[in-house]
Amino acid sequence: MSNKHFCQGPHCHERTTQDRFLKSRGVIRGRYALFNMDADSYCERGKYFCSTNCESLWLDEHMKNIEQGRPIEFIRHRRESKGYEKVTETVNHGWGDRTYNSIKRVDNRTELD
Ligand SMILES: [Zn+2]
Repeated sequence: MSNKHFCQGPHCHERTTQDRFLKSRGVIRGRYALFNMDADSYCERGKYFCSTNCESLWLDEHMKNIEQGRPIEFIRHRRESKGYEKVTETVNHGWGDRTYNSIKRVDNRTELD
């Protein structure tokens, strides 16, 4: 069992990176925080967030709640976004084909081939 909190970033589970993508289920999952809960406390934030980007987004999302004294939900379960798949695209730049892998949302696509 992990000794880490889940990243508290409000959009951590919506970012399409390779390490968040679980191909077998087609989901994007939130990351764990950077450091173990019991790590030395030189960076407390790192026990709650995977990245400075997620820290910043958390502040953006919750500063109003802090100002108003409203409770902020602590994320205790791994969050997921469904409906993603790995897409391979071949692009010809004029000097030959290049293949790119990307993770795309597939359940609500707006443009069809
Ligand atoms: Zn995060």
